[in-house]
Amino acid sequence: MDNLKNMIRTVPDFPKAGIQFYDITTLLKDPYGLRTTIDRLTEFIDKPIDTVIGIEARGFIFAPALAYRLGAGFVPVRKPRKLPAATESISYALEYGTDTLEIHKDAIGDGNRVLVADDLLATGGTAAAVISLVERLGGIVAGLAFVVELNFLKGRERLSGYKISSLLRYDS
Ligand code: AMP
Repeated sequence: MDNLKNMIRTVPDFPKAGIQFYDITTLLKDPYGLRTTIDRLTEFIDKPIDTVIGIEARGFIFAPALAYRLGAGFVPVRKPRKLPAATESISYALEYGTDTLEIHKDAIGDGNRVLVADDLLATGGTAAAVISLVERLGGIVAGLAFVVELNFLKGRERLSGYKISSLLRYDS
């Protein structure tokens, strides 16, 4: 995976001082990087999956490609007031700031096996919030998929009990 790691750009002090930002755009623009990322992540996921959820915004880049490969549907989890029909909503703390996320109430069927996808796992706060949304709607979180995992922020511990697939892990 080291060749993929070399395609991730780290940007110091973005979006604010003290944050080391893991920029996936340099991986995405590389044809081998993009295809290998989707192919490898698909291999690690427990099938079958009915629905892949992408978390706005960077989860939207990976979730539809994973859904296509898994023969699943795609559901967006969005920032507030973006979804037009009735929503379920949750507020949570981020590595930087706080946020609210929403999902359409009819997006997940009872007992659906759901994969939650995002670009990066940091503290796990975002993923934990999305897990709550899915479970409130009667879905089963069959797995969580991330391109990058920041081990030192211990998101995996916060999400214990759930199957986590991540491709590129960083210890510092
Ligand atoms: P968390 O809820 O702490 O796991 O944060 C995960 C979310 O915040 C993901 O949607 C990431 O895109 C974003 N994020 C958090 N920390 C970083 C970072 N250091 N570099 C890039 N994205 C980050």
